[in-house]
Amino acid sequence: MNASLSNAYAWPDAEGRFGPFGGRFVAETLMPAVHELEAAWDAARADPSFQAELDDFLTHYVGRPSPLYFAERLTEHHGGANIWFKRDELNHTGAHKINNCMGQILLARRMGKTRIIAETGAGQHGVATATVCARFGLPCIVYMGAADIERQAPNVFRMKLLGAEVRPVTNGRATLKEAMNEAMRDWVSNVGDTFYIIGTAAGPHPYPAMVRDFQSVIGREAREQMLARTGRLPDACVAAIGGGSNAIGLFHPFIGDEGVRLIGIEAAGHGLEGNSHAASLQGGRPGVLHGNRTYLLQDDDGQILEGHSISAGLDYPGIGPEHAWLHQTGRAEYRAATDAEALEAFQLCSKLEGIIPALEPSHALARVGEIAAEVGKGGNVVLNLCGRGDKDIFSVAKHLGVEL
Ligand SMILES: *Cc1c(COP(=O)(O)O)cnc(C)c1O
Repeated sequence: MNASLSNAYAWPDAEGRFGPFGGRFVAETLMPAVHELEAAWDAARADPSFQAELDDFLTHYVGRPSPLYFAERLTEHHGGANIWFKRDELNHTGAHKINNCMGQILLARRMGKTRIIAETGAGQHGVATATVCARFGLPCIVYMGAADIERQAPNVFRMKLLGAEVRPVTNGRATLKEAMNEAMRDWVSNVGDTFYIIGTAAGPHPYPAMVRDFQSVIGREAREQMLARTGRLPDACVAAIGGGSNAIGLFHPFIGDEGVRLIGIEAAGHGLEGNSHAASLQGGRPGVLHGNRTYLLQDDDGQILEGHSISAGLDYPGIGPEHAWLHQTGRAEYRAATDAEALEAFQLCSKLEGIIPALEPSHALARVGEIAAEVGKGGNVVLNLCGRGDKDIFSVAKHLGVEL
């Protein structure tokens, strides 16, 4: 293993850097808030009573631990290594995002913050944030691009039912990037009472590390469950990548285990050639966005490009900085799956396993056959089934030409 990885668990450094990535590129006016958050997080993560409170909510509200399930028929179908699903789609609200939202809202309460803001693209993070805000009786403002509000009406309605205010953002392309900028602006003007819950392992330090730590419950459970079920560690872990939070959550507890391959699957959209994809690592270049340095989709002038994916949850134009570092050091591998491949895998998993997956993990499902073949019979591959497909049936029906 690369020598710089031997201390993997200590990442990032004091400035929030993962090698040349990450960091804290924010306006001077936001620095005090970012430092306050970092200090509060350092104290909370070392405090057993905070961990105990979080564990209690993860058990009784979120529904953890999620099962580790042997996908027997999918394994037979592909004919290679055993395929296991880490079933985070069974969490309350149907995906992994609640793990992070629960952690951050408990931290907000501990810091005495009384107002919660968030950004959302497809609306999944907005729904998870609105959920925990309802649970703790805190006002919730969700910034969302006007274009996304139109495309994601059911999630907008869910947020409203949960008592959140959805604020449309109309500048630029009116999607996730602008919503995130607007949330940052709100935070700058209301730093005293406001906590900004970021939805993926991106943003300025300490967010990438903090979100990773909250999502690492996925990998810690999977590690224990694999040892209990098979007596050994898996040969490979596979997860879909939007901003990278569910993937880093699965990968992180295995980083020190050299024999465990870590494989992230980006959204190739209509294909990696051209600009109609959301594969920031494989089709982008390093730059600075949303407070950190990482791989970004950008044109020759450094203008951020709109990502495209069949899955609205994967079209973030960047990727968490820890993935950029794992990519550069070679500790993790990154591949991609197209819209068409994800759609195929979505249907296969539904028919063979009786589990309708979200379109996001369908990208991981699209590559798991070839990975199982590489690992070979008798080996074990863990795939993070990070979300359920209920939210996607209308867009899948449309793509299949079915009228509902
Ligand atoms: C939001 C979302 C993603 C993408 O976010 P990551 O931070 O990359 O995990 C993936 N899957 C599901 C089900 C989501 O809701």
